[in-house]
Amino acid sequence: MDVSYLLDSLNDAQREAVSAPPAHRLVLAGAGSGKTRVLVHRIAWLIQVEHVSPYGVLAVTFTNKAAAEMRGRIEKILGIPVGGMWVGTFHGLAHRLLRAHWKEAGLPQTFQILDSDDQYRLIRRLLKAMELDEEKWPARQVQHFINGRKDEGIRPAHINHHEDLFLKQQVRIYEEYEALCNRGGLVDFAEMLLRAHEIWLNHPDLLAHYQSRFQHILVDEFQDTNTIQYAWLQLLAGKQSYLFVVGDDDQSIYGWRGAKIENIHRFSKDFPAVETVRLEQNYRSTAAILAAANGLITHNEGRLGKNLWTDGEQGDPVQVYAAFNEYDEAIYVIGRIQAWLEQGNVRSDVAILYRSNAQSRVFEEKLLQAGTPYRVYGGQRFFERAEIKDALAYLRLVANDNDDAAFERVVNHPPRGIGERSVATVRDYARQHEVSLMQAVQSIIENKILNGRACKALTGFLNILQQMKQGIDELQLDEQMEHVLEISRLREHYGKEKGEKGQSRIENLDELISAARQFEPNEDIEGLTPLLAFLAYAVLEAGEGQGSANEECVQLMTLHSAKGLEFPLVFLCGLEDGLFPHRMSMDDPARLEEERRLCYVGMTRACKVLILCHAERRRLHGMESFSRPSQFLREIPQDLLENIRVQNKAAQYSAKVLAQPSIPFPLEDTGTGLRIGQGVHHEKFGEGVILGLEGQGSHARAQVNFAHAGAKWLVLSYAKLTPM
Ligand code: ATP
Ligand code: MG
Repeated sequence: MDVSYLLDSLNDAQREAVSAPPAHRLVLAGAGSGKTRVLVHRIAWLIQVEHVSPYGVLAVTFTNKAAAEMRGRIEKILGIPVGGMWVGTFHGLAHRLLRAHWKEAGLPQTFQILDSDDQYRLIRRLLKAMELDEEKWPARQVQHFINGRKDEGIRPAHINHHEDLFLKQQVRIYEEYEALCNRGGLVDFAEMLLRAHEIWLNHPDLLAHYQSRFQHILVDEFQDTNTIQYAWLQLLAGKQSYLFVVGDDDQSIYGWRGAKIENIHRFSKDFPAVETVRLEQNYRSTAAILAAANGLITHNEGRLGKNLWTDGEQGDPVQVYAAFNEYDEAIYVIGRIQAWLEQGNVRSDVAILYRSNAQSRVFEEKLLQAGTPYRVYGGQRFFERAEIKDALAYLRLVANDNDDAAFERVVNHPPRGIGERSVATVRDYARQHEVSLMQAVQSIIENKILNGRACKALTGFLNILQQMKQGIDELQLDEQMEHVLEISRLREHYGKEKGEKGQSRIENLDELISAARQFEPNEDIEGLTPLLAFLAYAVLEAGEGQGSANEECVQLMTLHSAKGLEFPLVFLCGLEDGLFPHRMSMDDPARLEEERRLCYVGMTRACKVLILCHAERRRLHGMESFSRPSQFLREIPQDLLENIRVQNKAAQYSAKVLAQPSIPFPLEDTGTGLRIGQGVHHEKFGEGVILGLEGQGSHARAQVNFAHAGAKWLVLSYAKLTPM
């Protein structure tokens, strides 16, 4: 059989890894060296040459997007669909197992997934019910404690608190939280992995089934696996399956969430005869970009050490733009994007990367103004919006009465006269009798524990749910949404909200109906009603992107979500001490190294052009700060960087973006002695920088971006601007 098409596009080391006989294998290599490519080709090789059934392959990737891409690429190489193959994220795969074996997992068939926000709220309410002081027991810390233990595979019963009172209390909260989730059939993200692991531990027959099924387990981004994920892989591989893992210690960026770089070392110890493959040629970036990224990462200690080289072109030097403030930064970036597009490039080749989600707002504002379609990954996702979560909470209650998190969310929303005191009674009753809130309501009504008015209001709520359930099974998914929105009166409720906000909420609810209409359940999970499938999808998958998928868009995302991706033109923004590296990490050497790896990940996303930006002033989270350029900028060998002067290119680009098509916009001097990019002072607005000039003589106007007051057009004959 001619299999050259599987190997032709690979270099020797890659080819060897792809076509090697089965063994445990670790591909340890730097960014852009073809790890993911090797993994994809390996799967194709196994199926085509080793005659492994797609059914016997399990591939784990980092995002659902990556999983879909991987499946697509394999099918393209092989020219056949590979439906039986399991490809997904750890969470997606664990979810699938729990759905298939809910009984063994000790869950109700209709169990619901709690996202991190749901979990936080549930914990807050629990702490209240336990009468714990919020100051002393912040819900976020408790959440962190619980998830941290779960990521380590630790249940409350495993923790020996040695009579340490603080720890003892934490364990007690963890226990109560567990009981609460169990009663409600609620599973948080960390729980999914832990439970899936426990199913196997507790059911050797099931484990044996999956062990013999998955002969080949392949894992991308292995450096970011945590303890429970590692244990999961180890258990599943058993003695008979082969693990093929690829990773890069320099790109480990999830330590804060429990990921363990050490898993790379452990792997070679725990599995017999691991063959390690190193790939050293980078195919993604220009030599200039690679040199800068390599220069940065050498500042980390204890690296496994790699020598990454490219025989690609030198390319433009990495550029650094010192912006006046965050608006100037955004305007500059968008100007460069416009210029790039004018050269015949496409929008989806451009990525704007940043450390913190909140940074996207100003870019969004300016992109909108410039009429440039964009897409934000992460951030406030569609399914995380309040109105959408309200609607989903009703649906969750329809699917599962005992879902306490959903109950709390909507019991008096829209308001129906159920006061906080009644709800507190319901909570107390539920806790004392170890029943769900819904069951508590029923008993309270039956036994008239609350006064007549309160009972009546609660009965009203039960009736609404009853009404929702009636005949819902006969409806299509989108009709179910309509039905629930009507009966809950959510739409009516939001309709009363004034202005834009209410309007956009209604639009979002409509969007939910169309999402339901277009929803195609993942046919792999058997026995799941469309409603349950949709609810799981809303938590697990749908959040990865927003905006129209088919439109050519500029991509905006945090550095964390950029992992594994590549773009010809990359802007890495907000390179300021305190923002990136993050304030909280600056004094802790280990965390600082993780930030540096994050920066390395960001830089190595770029194929052709990399532009680093920092702002002298920035307003973020409502606070104005003046920051030094990031220490990472100082760590890159300076001869590899090119500073961009405000006066020349940047200003021209900025001016171009700002120019509305209808306004003639001379770039030249307006005869006022002012020029674009110049710093000026205004009596009332303070300091600013000139972004645009137009008109002549008494009509001359300037657009000035003020540090405090934002961008303003000023008529120069009135406004007294003093050059700085
Ligand atoms: P990361 O560490 O960022 O995840 P990676 O090691 O997984 O990177 P890939 O994404 O697989 O790298 O590959 C980087 C780029 O190089 C891709 O565009 C890929 O198609 C290309 N590439 C990889 N190997 C080769 C090769 N032998 N010849 C040509 N192009 C290659
Ligand atoms: Mg990769």
